[in-house]
Amino acid sequence: MSAYTWINESLQTIKKANWYRSTQTINGGSGAVVVLEGESCINFASNDYLGLAGDERLITAAVNAVKEFGTGSTGSRLLTGQRSLHQQLERAIASLKQTQDAIVFSSGYLANIGAITALVGKRDLVLSDQYNHSSLKNGAILSGANITEYPHCNTEVLKNQLHSQRKNYRRCLIITDSVFSMDGDLCPLPELLDLAEEFNCMLLVDEAHGTGVLGKNGAGCVEHFGCTGRELIQMGTLSKALGSLGGYITGSATLIDYLRNRAPSWIYTTALSPADTASALTAIEIVSSEPQRRMQLWHNVEYLRELLQKHLPELKILPSSSPILCFQLANAADALKAGKRLKDAGVFAPAIRPPTVPTSRIRITLMATHENVHIEKLVEVLCSLATK
Ligand code: PMP
Repeated sequence: MSAYTWINESLQTIKKANWYRSTQTINGGSGAVVVLEGESCINFASNDYLGLAGDERLITAAVNAVKEFGTGSTGSRLLTGQRSLHQQLERAIASLKQTQDAIVFSSGYLANIGAITALVGKRDLVLSDQYNHSSLKNGAILSGANITEYPHCNTEVLKNQLHSQRKNYRRCLIITDSVFSMDGDLCPLPELLDLAEEFNCMLLVDEAHGTGVLGKNGAGCVEHFGCTGRELIQMGTLSKALGSLGGYITGSATLIDYLRNRAPSWIYTTALSPADTASALTAIEIVSSEPQRRMQLWHNVEYLRELLQKHLPELKILPSSSPILCFQLANAADALKAGKRLKDAGVFAPAIRPPTVPTSRIRITLMATHENVHIEKLVEVLCSLATK
């Protein structure tokens, strides 16, 4: 027995619980239809909500940036890594969100970790929605702050927690997804902002799935709820509707200046690559200039809902106000079976299981580039599963 034997034992336990995960390869580019492990599939598993990851303009921007600036950015932002592109991108994000400034990280995960660890520490309190993304949860753990979870979207309980706990801590940070990534519902943003103001707390909202998707101008959930201009910390990713890679925090100029001095996952890592930076910048221009993409996405969401209501009214769709639609299954084994059957029928809509989520489900994400026939095929396959 070696010091590493436990790793294999642990893997076996994961397999027995149906929690084992393995990767699968898409051959070629992303899109509404992909070749998955050699088989053509309609893709209902992508975060590329606006279909920009394969857009010629993003590709050209990336290629030109590589030609001008090289492949790597060669250093951290505070040393040799910064190019004019980074600042242009940060200005574009701040302009989309109507905030004073923005700071771009190498991923959304690093943005949450960097911001939370910079904002709170041992003497502070983090109040966190129970369904928050792993990057928010791990940011809170790494910060060393005292963490209290509140039940999903429950502002009554949150208020009680604030009443009983706020006074015991120096600072308090409320953290929440704006669109919950594995459910598709939205956080009660106006109420959270009111509570943050009432109890003198900071509020960090993760707009990973809101940016480009929600709001008249695609600025996200904050715009959707008419909360633009209120004081809060917005985080987002460049890797979903924006079709690139990277993450950001946006807010007041003071906040961003502070993060440039205090966020370790920004200071001590290599700056975002020229290609990723340039393609994200082009994507933000498209988000602003082509609202028809967003409208097509929402049209597709409505079309799917309509067909499901008509043909599968008994399907238990979790509450959602986004292009993420999930339906629950009894357990992980059933979810895996359903995911496999969908895939065998040419539809990629994966099973999501614990520990990622509390209950097993099939998760469907829509894109602006789905055509009616794709959505009809999805419903047809779901109907055939329901009758088996
Ligand atoms: N927050 C949420 C809600 C997410 O869904 C994700 C990506 N799965 C992230 C943060 C992390 O973003 P990135 O992929 O850019 O690291």
